Amino acid sequence: MMWRCLNPECADNPGGNAGHEFDSETLMAVCPKCGASRAHPRTGQLLVRLATIHFDPPTKFKGIGENRRACDGKSVLIDDPLKAGLDHFHGATGDPGSVTCRECKQTDKFKAAAAAGE
Ligand SMILES: [Zn+2]
Ligand SMILES: [Zn+2]
Repeated sequence: MMWRCLNPECADNPGGNAGHEFDSETLMAVCPKCGASRAHPRTGQLLVRLATIHFDPPTKFKGIGENRRACDGKSVLIDDPLKAGLDHFHGATGDPGSVTCRECKQTDKFKAAAAAGE
């Protein structure tokens, strides 16, 4: 899961995107910089969970994706809110600039698409 700590002192690049991004395997995330913890009633409010946007690789048909996550090959439709329960934390896109999933960004398909868009 991707998280952001909104503590101004944790900002990765002051003046840019607010806060510090980090990964946590649990819902009780703890900021590695300032120690703010989701388990804490006050500092927990500094931590927000970020949506993971996977890369849906393109097919030879323009605008049509494979409907599979580049990172793990799972169907992107399992996260389709119309098909499954609402999941605000996962999505997929064919637009490389909107992808946040770090695993997807490591794939050759993503790199090819990102390079083609430059
Ligand atoms: Zn922090
Ligand atoms: Zn992914």
